[in-house]
Amino acid sequence: MDKIHDIVIIGAGAAGLTAGIYACRANMDTILLEKFVPGGQAALTAFVENYPGFPDGISGFELMDSMRKQATAFGLEIKTGEVKKIDKQDNFFCIGTTTCKLNTRTIIVSTGVHPRALNVPGEKELFGKGVSTCATCDGSFYRDMDVAVIGGGDSALDEGIFLTRFASKVHIIHRRDKFRALHTYVKKAQENPKIEFHLNSIVASINGKNTVESITLKNVTTGEESNLPVAGVFMYIGLVPNTKIFKGFLELSDGGFIKVNENLQTSVPGVFAAGDVRETPLRQNITAASDGAVAAYSAGRFLEKIE
Ligand code: NAP
Repeated sequence: MDKIHDIVIIGAGAAGLTAGIYACRANMDTILLEKFVPGGQAALTAFVENYPGFPDGISGFELMDSMRKQATAFGLEIKTGEVKKIDKQDNFFCIGTTTCKLNTRTIIVSTGVHPRALNVPGEKELFGKGVSTCATCDGSFYRDMDVAVIGGGDSALDEGIFLTRFASKVHIIHRRDKFRALHTYVKKAQENPKIEFHLNSIVASINGKNTVESITLKNVTTGEESNLPVAGVFMYIGLVPNTKIFKGFLELSDGGFIKVNENLQTSVPGVFAAGDVRETPLRQNITAASDGAVAAYSAGRFLEKIE
């Protein structure tokens, strides 16, 4: 019989890495599984201004890299692999991944979210050729060029402001005339001379032969269509939970987020969920980190009970 770990954490964003810090510091035998590289969505955020302890702000990458270093210093083992299957045995779970098989008494799901797609002509074809979901990664390619940012939430406004460091003009396209984003972001964007708003407008198509050349905008009040020349299009129209693999195993909300109780236990005893992937009113680095701590603590209490 293969070894049975105390905890397997799935996903290495702020929630997963913090769970790793708390679990390893409490001497629980813990493995963290990550599909690509540790850091999650936060590592792709240009600048984090609201994480306590950093009065001058910190880059998302730096913040997440520090969390990874702190977790591994406590002995956290990070393995690369995508979870394909979870089987519940009598008193443990068997996790099958693309690279390994792991047995564990408890699981912490911290798989996070991914950017929602717009599903308009040209989006898929020109992805990576002007269409992007990461201003931090791709923003500097658009020095002195015009770009468009789609969305009216915190991400669109925050990343739109960031893009003004490089672009000559940032067009923010939003489907309503009211913003979902915090007032502070809206005010900052409105005061930025490089930002132009196109409200009550949707993107009908993204156009270009080999790279993005323009977008077709449709005004939803007048129905009028217009062509806006831009070299880049940054999509920030919301987040979709990474829960496909858990459908039928864990109880999910209508939007696909994992339902949990106050101890972050899911519908399956021994399985906890932390961070953006769970049903929660606020998705921030600090709430994800806090969730990671609670989930590791709850997993510890669960282990005490079954042992
Ligand atoms: P979000 O809050 O869900 O906003 C998505 C935006 O995209 C909304 O304005 C929405 O329009 C628009 N949208 C959705 N589907 C669309 C479609 N098919 N076509 C056109 N527009 C569409 O997503 P988010 O901005 O990525 O934020 C996600 C979470 O991260 C939030 O909890 C946010 O507070 C957090 N966040 C925080 C910070 C920060 O505090 N520094 C920074 C980034 C993100 P409607 O408004 O009309 O629905």
